[in-house]
Amino acid sequence: MKILIVEDEPKTGEYLRQGLGEAGFVVDLARDGIDGLHLALTGDHDLLVLDVMLPGVDGWAILQAVRRSGGEMPVLFLTARDAVDDRVRGLELGADDYLVKPFAFSELLARVRTLLRRGRTKESEVLQAGDLELDLLRRRVTRGGRRIDLTAKEFGLLELLLRRQGEVLPRSLIASQVWDMNFDSDTNVIEVAVRRLRAKVDDPFEPKLIRTVRGMGYVLEADPN
Ligand code: CA
Repeated sequence: MKILIVEDEPKTGEYLRQGLGEAGFVVDLARDGIDGLHLALTGDHDLLVLDVMLPGVDGWAILQAVRRSGGEMPVLFLTARDAVDDRVRGLELGADDYLVKPFAFSELLARVRTLLRRGRTKESEVLQAGDLELDLLRRRVTRGGRRIDLTAKEFGLLELLLRRQGEVLPRSLIASQVWDMNFDSDTNVIEVAVRRLRAKVDDPFEPKLIRTVRGMGYVLEADPN
């Protein structure tokens, strides 16, 4: 799941980026309203976290532009102002929730998960391949009914492979989707992560689901034929 944060206060922005990253989300951070607006309209995010007061274009204007262009992703506003008319205005414009600064990160994370769940009601909440199941809401993976513990990155990697099963995913795509970084041929972070993931979801089981396609990338398939 991909989240856009638009926050001009550097400490808050970094804190949110890091926290949500560690919680397994792919995070884009914009530090002003102009970048934020551009990313909100082009970035294909599952959720927006918008500060209200921003240089350039404020949070309200971003929300308005997103809704006008047909963007239906949930939007969580961060506001330092606990004014009732702010909330009313935001809700009229199509915001989904509010958080008044300062807030605890755990509170933000809970709201984010609730909004993503609500925003995704039509979509299946469990991804599946053979006897492997990934429950998006409970953040839980099982194979053959056996619980498998994954790190946040491993979970993100498996989610991507499951969402696009049968497709060969290049390392560069995995790097950008799961690690939010550009692929650097010197790093073997993807290989290491795939190996660890396989050790957990494939090695103790048959049949193997994740395959390396030499020179191309990785594919997850329940039925290779
Ligand atoms: Ca601000």
